[in-house]
Amino acid sequence: MRRSPARPPRPKAPRGIQIKSLDQIAVMRRAGLVVSAGLEAMAAAAHPGVTTLELDAVGRDVLASHGAKSSFLRYGAGMGLPPYPGVVCLSVNEEIVHGIPGPRMLRDGDILSIDFGAIVDGWHGDAARTVVIGEASPKALELIEATRAAMWAGVAAVRPGARIGDVSAAIEASAMGHSGRKYGIIREYTGHGIGSAMHQPPDVPNWGHPHRGPRIVEGMALAIEPMLTLGTESVVEAGDEWMVSTADGSWSAHWEDTVAVMPDGLWVLTEPDGGAAELAARGVRCAPLP
Ligand code: MG
Repeated sequence: MRRSPARPPRPKAPRGIQIKSLDQIAVMRRAGLVVSAGLEAMAAAAHPGVTTLELDAVGRDVLASHGAKSSFLRYGAGMGLPPYPGVVCLSVNEEIVHGIPGPRMLRDGDILSIDFGAIVDGWHGDAARTVVIGEASPKALELIEATRAAMWAGVAAVRPGARIGDVSAAIEASAMGHSGRKYGIIREYTGHGIGSAMHQPPDVPNWGHPHRGPRIVEGMALAIEPMLTLGTESVVEAGDEWMVSTADGSWSAHWEDTVAVMPDGLWVLTEPDGGAAELAARGVRCAPLP
């Protein structure tokens, strides 16, 4: 009689999707912690009167102090885009994503989306937060919380055997139902696979149908990143070929984490606690490496 293996064979990953070993995910965790530290430092420095270029310098210091490289700096070179000049994307109010750091001075009541990426030993981490500058309006705070909740709804839907469409549908349902208010969902930009490159297959749209799309298996890592608005879902691109804003000037928020699918649960690599608290609140098992 043949002895049955201790573990059943792994389901095959959909073609083109990079599956990471536990060792590789452990390196991605180091990148994720650099990202988390950078987001925290930039959020702490984001006050009225501070320019977005000054925050970029804070991000550079965090990368340097951890011996990490930037995922963003010079991104786009060789892809027909002007090489991205910063280490962070800083998008204010109606700006959705890809705001280039510059002389813009933050003002009391602004909201600021901070999107930051780091490379450690060739492996990437990517995350974003929207923070308030000084005192923001209740409407802006609700938008930020709805975006954060939509991201966690998406993360909590990640599990082996599920499909990417299940994650997308969970994000959409959360965004549509939060506080009984409907937010605009930015559909032209999506989450993504992440690993030895920042952007990998599969795309993870922030809207869609359950039971569709690539199947999720152990060893995948995904960046889940809803962008919601108080108004339109239409976007306009700036002349710098990077910055994306809402077409109607309505304010936008962005929240992102990198999550890895582990043998016995999820590991949110860009959260200091690995996602333990937020996942527990949603009845999902968090499984950091020992
Ligand atoms: Mg991303």
